Amino acid sequence: MSEIHKFLFEGLPVRGVLVRLTDAWTDILRRRAANLAPGAYPAPLQNLLGEMAAAAVLMQSSIKFDGSLVLQIFGDGPVKLAVVEVQPDFGVRATATLNGSLPDDASLSQMVNVGNTGRCAITLDPQNRQPGQQPYQGVVPLFGDAHEKLEKFSDVLQHYMLQSEQLDTLLVLAADDQVAAGLLIQRLPTMGAGNLAGTGVSNEDEIGTNEHYQRIALLAASLKREELLTLDVDTVLRRLFWQEDLRRFEPLQGAAGPHFSCTCSHERVSKMLLSLGFEEARSILLERGEIEVGCDFCGQQYRFDGVDVARMFHRTDQTPPASDAVH
Ligand SMILES: [Zn+2]
Repeated sequence: MSEIHKFLFEGLPVRGVLVRLTDAWTDILRRRAANLAPGAYPAPLQNLLGEMAAAAVLMQSSIKFDGSLVLQIFGDGPVKLAVVEVQPDFGVRATATLNGSLPDDASLSQMVNVGNTGRCAITLDPQNRQPGQQPYQGVVPLFGDAHEKLEKFSDVLQHYMLQSEQLDTLLVLAADDQVAAGLLIQRLPTMGAGNLAGTGVSNEDEIGTNEHYQRIALLAASLKREELLTLDVDTVLRRLFWQEDLRRFEPLQGAAGPHFSCTCSHERVSKMLLSLGFEEARSILLERGEIEVGCDFCGQQYRFDGVDVARMFHRTDQTPPASDAVH
């Protein structure tokens, strides 16, 4: 069962979240594998997308925000796009676009940052967006301070958190074909709003604050990929922080936890077709007899025949064409 565990270090301005995606993750992989056109992900891309999924759930669970969080990589290599979307109820969906093939040991840069122009974007899209309101988006490159290509996705996000959010963050991420997991350790932001459960210690200028964070981050960084993938949450936290005073919160699992869910619908696909325009839709119809659109996230197929298309375009056009005999 997929789960989210939040915890605080008692009396210290440091918080943590540990996420393990199991059924939510295998559901995403199974749907992809069942989709005959692109087929299952090669291992390196599967692991990258899993790390992104774990990271997106970690971020969604550590911010107070009522909307979807979208984590994307725009690659300049064989992987053109990798995207994970997490809803406020931890519904997760993910997909990636690969052109060509990948070696089994492909590195992050070989997949998405060949020319060092790959980008990572984090978008917060409010649930009830007002007309004209733009979603918030932050974009970071896939290189470090000296323009060196980053080879760990966690390094890319740590960079982002520090640069865009001014938050000291440590991330350990790992994924295989069964589990996508992540550990986040973060120094709490400044006094006041946003602090998880208010710790009483919230002045970040307080002497020693950084020292505590550094110590805990160092412990967290010792967590090995294999441990994160195979050990249960209690064991991981005990091994890492047995000397710390940990306050744990009720885990989010089952119905309240991460689960696969896709937000596609007939209506959304119709809107997409409408944006193509009538001429484009008609030319596809003439060529193939129907328009078939598959959802990249869940594999759902949506079909539109000539009647659907005619109805769709008439409904939005204020003035129906002369040939429309029904009044
Ligand atoms: Zn879908």
